[in-house]
Amino acid sequence: MRGYTEDRQSVLRQLPAVSRLLQEEQVQQAVALHGRELVVECAREVLEQLREQLRRGEVVPADLPTVVQRVLQRVQRWRTPSLRRVLNATGVVLHTGLGRAVLAEAAQRAVAEIAAGHSMLEIDRETGERGDRMEHVRDLLCRLTGAEDATVVNNNAGAVLLAVTALARGKEVIISRGQLVEIGGAFRMPDIIAQSGARLVEVGTTNRTRLSDYERAITSETALILRCHPSNFRIVGFTEEVSPAELAALAHRYQLPVLDDVGSGCLVNTELFGLEHEPTLQESLQSGCDVVTCSGDKLLGASQAGIILGRKELVQNIRRHPLHRALRVDKLTLAALEATLRLYLHPEEAIREIPTLRALTTSAAALRRRAQQLKRRLQRALPDDRVTVRLREGVSEVGGGSLPGQQLPTTLVCLRVDGLGATELAHALRWQEPAVFARIEQDEVVLDPRTLLPGEEELLVQAVRGAVQSVSGR
Ligand SMILES: *Cc1c(COP(=O)(O)O)cnc(C)c1O
Repeated sequence: MRGYTEDRQSVLRQLPAVSRLLQEEQVQQAVALHGRELVVECAREVLEQLREQLRRGEVVPADLPTVVQRVLQRVQRWRTPSLRRVLNATGVVLHTGLGRAVLAEAAQRAVAEIAAGHSMLEIDRETGERGDRMEHVRDLLCRLTGAEDATVVNNNAGAVLLAVTALARGKEVIISRGQLVEIGGAFRMPDIIAQSGARLVEVGTTNRTRLSDYERAITSETALILRCHPSNFRIVGFTEEVSPAELAALAHRYQLPVLDDVGSGCLVNTELFGLEHEPTLQESLQSGCDVVTCSGDKLLGASQAGIILGRKELVQNIRRHPLHRALRVDKLTLAALEATLRLYLHPEEAIREIPTLRALTTSAAALRRRAQQLKRRLQRALPDDRVTVRLREGVSEVGGGSLPGQQLPTTLVCLRVDGLGATELAHALRWQEPAVFARIEQDEVVLDPRTLLPGEEELLVQAVRGAVQSVSGR
């Protein structure tokens, strides 16, 4: 015991001092590159960690070269962005974990341009006076959807919270039990309503709600009827929901507005490209809904935003509410949104240019060709006979709470490495640069070409090679 303690003491004593570390050439280079302060702090932290480990009796290498490497790694970690670009091979087009919509080139350029200089964000060019940042998107949104007025906030959850607060605080909001949904873990309709200060009045049952259920619930306390797109699930079988048009007609007989949270915010008819019908913003407004909200970064394919459309007086009330300022969108979001909306003025161009729409409209034949090509490239890059690459028919997903249950046929590239589990391989892929996110199915790693962007195939091949080498130790 005594000998062991002495051992530990001697290792502790032999730990290099910060001043000694700073004499090393590599550390001096790090100081030149990253500044003295960060390097010294990292050196202290690494030494403190080592002392702690040694005190606990752990056996850790603590010689000078090892300590230097640990310090350099630590400095590097702090100076490398954590939010990094990755390859999405999951086949989930709107993957919330992977950042939802990829911006169209026009939107990317707009963001870069506005970020790089001063802009006309909130200024009236004519008078030189303070203007309104909504001017850049309001007319566009109205033209594209037929709305009388429009505004934009940080995200759709914020849009719903703001709209319900502005229109129904202290009063009652009626919603069908079939639409009291939770979206993405943290957006729960009942919680949003509670937060708005309105009182929730639930009507109907989970699977069936009739117009008479709504009508019976209307009182002098009612301020709003709310609809919510049940984005990420679907009730099948013995079901009944009231159509937006019927609901709007009922509400208007009682001088009440209808707020429709359509979720995804589609502007084009998804049936045109062989998908199921996703209610569009235009349809919701045409059916008589007074205020409609949606996300900017789902099917619309733009930046994270909450879009609010509808009747002029109501949108004005919403815009004047203090929460509107609290949920304000920034200029980069607006730049991306504006550029994306301008693409929709020419719908064929929108479908060609917006990556989300492009991914959804890629034909099964084109995906099969891309999968075959990817397979050939992988086989060339991985001559190792322990690696098996094969193709299989499968399905991609829309994701992002859009078109729930819609199956998109695709061809999957399946990877198997002898003696290696799929979980291990998928983990190794996530630690490549760029990281690759894939799916695991039937104990295989599967890569879906649908969500790969142009030019990413080569990066994917390199990443797979790197991952296989890293786990097979050569
Ligand atoms: C996705 C979704 C939301 C939340 O939108 P965010 O933009 O992520 O805040 C709200 N309502 C519906 C119906 C949705 O699908």
